Amino acid sequence: MQDRTGLPEVHRSEGKSKGPRPVFTSILRGAAQKCPACGVGAMFRRYLKVADACPHCGEELHHQRADDAPPYFTIVIVGHIVVGLVLAVEMAYRPPLWVHAALWLPLTVILTLLILPVVKGALIALQWALLMHGFDPDAKEEVLQSFDADLAQASARQLPALSK
Ligand SMILES: [Zn+2]
Repeated sequence: MQDRTGLPEVHRSEGKSKGPRPVFTSILRGAAQKCPACGVGAMFRRYLKVADACPHCGEELHHQRADDAPPYFTIVIVGHIVVGLVLAVEMAYRPPLWVHAALWLPLTVILTLLILPVVKGALIALQWALLMHGFDPDAKEEVLQSFDADLAQASARQLPALSK
């Protein structure tokens, strides 16, 4: 179904879309640093700061728990590119060490800064597509109920101690 913007309609429920969440499409949108739900709004409000909600469709994005996975995968990717190039250049030209330093240190920094938001966007989109963390539109009440139960148990344990 298409809305007025010509984009696929997203079924909304308090910032959580109820429609299908195709994993591959979501990852592509995330890698492009766009909202995984609509593919239009920006996922990040600053370089690596995830927007609380999509500025276009309102999908809640603050549920993400990317944590240290993006740097981990970025190190793996950049490491494979740079180490391969270092070895190839060394085998072909045997340049002095200062040439290696002048080439690979800046390249490593630039590649890392370019790849990190791509990987982070893709990982957050994957979490969204798999309904992980708070991204599940049906999970909210369940989580709140278990939180209430935990709170009630904690109060029950604390109250006798306080009344002494
Ligand atoms: Zn959106």
